[in-house]
Amino acid sequence: MNRALKIGILEGDDIGLEVVPETIKVMRAAAQKTGLAIDWFPMPIGRKALDELGYTLPPGTLEKLDTLDGWVLGPIGHQAYPKDQPNAINPHPILRKHFDLFANIRPAKSFPGLPAIYQDVDLIMVRENNEGFPPDRNVYLGNGEFRPTPDMTISIRLITRPGSSKVARAAFELARTRPRKKVTAVHKNTVFKLGCGMFAEECRKVAQDYPDIAFDEVMVDTFGMRLVMKPQQFDVIVTTNTFGDILSDVAAGLVGGLGLAPGLSAGPERAMAQATHGSAPDIAGKNIANPYAMIMSGQMLLAWLGHKHAEPKAVTAAQRIERAMARVIGDGKTLTPDLGGKATTVQMGDAVAAQVQA
Ligand code: ATP
Repeated sequence: MNRALKIGILEGDDIGLEVVPETIKVMRAAAQKTGLAIDWFPMPIGRKALDELGYTLPPGTLEKLDTLDGWVLGPIGHQAYPKDQPNAINPHPILRKHFDLFANIRPAKSFPGLPAIYQDVDLIMVRENNEGFPPDRNVYLGNGEFRPTPDMTISIRLITRPGSSKVARAAFELARTRPRKKVTAVHKNTVFKLGCGMFAEECRKVAQDYPDIAFDEVMVDTFGMRLVMKPQQFDVIVTTNTFGDILSDVAAGLVGGLGLAPGLSAGPERAMAQATHGSAPDIAGKNIANPYAMIMSGQMLLAWLGHKHAEPKAVTAAQRIERAMARVIGDGKTLTPDLGGKATTVQMGDAVAAQVQA
């Protein structure tokens, strides 16, 4: 790649204002250390943008993001937006739809020494992000949930061949970058014969293009049991939207909770780093939020951009952040309270940035 990467910075709300700056600090340090050129584009979004500009998603934001390679989005506290202001919308679904961010990639990785149910898990859930059960994602207009009589509700679920195929391919590509090289498709085609059946068929077709990757299929209920009993057996998991939503939170719970749950929403051209956790208003402004999930979401963005644009420096920068974070956690001296430490958000961010440069 013979130009600088273009990355947007959208801080979001509440603890977003604390964890996103730490993320950018660490990403900058990694870029500097590896000679990776990045042009940064801070952009207003969320409550701050509403107060200053009158919109939670200011006009021109999508057009600007269209010119970038990816961006870091802090958590959005839309539940607290004023209900009577038409411009106080939740920007997240709009970003997801506009950029066709169809793959929601959520790793669950444990660290020896941190309080968690398991100490040796390293899996990644790849969740289809734009179809499935959520009623805002399965119809073009209107709502995919409706109530024909006061005592009956019908929820519909959308599964398409292109949507299933795309997310399966994203999972196989990801598996290629990992040592175990294994993909598990999770569904329930014994009951949802057409919906899960189509998803499974597309996963099998894609698997044929990846003879170097081991592939198996597990029914979602069995998978739930195997995940909590022996999560170490899984590498990359691909599944439909709602199954993935639930199972990725379960996986986060197995390795230490939401503060340790990063995420990346990836589309055909762009990707958005976004931690799994919400804006945590209960701890906002106290400088105690754990920056791990947001920093590692930024790390995933660099790795994704590195593979997408064949930019080895971005891949190296991502590897540096991963190693630096593991050292800070292993050393145990600069951890936030949720991880059993006494460090502030800024101190933990500083420690990771220092290790990146070491
Ligand atoms: P949303 O509905 O927006 O996803 P939520 O209601 O699921 O949000 P979060 O905002 O994610 O909730 O917070 C859930 C709990 O986890 C809160 O007690 C919060 O303080 C804690 N939490 C979330 N993120 C972090 C973090 N990065 N560091 C420490 N604690 C966190």
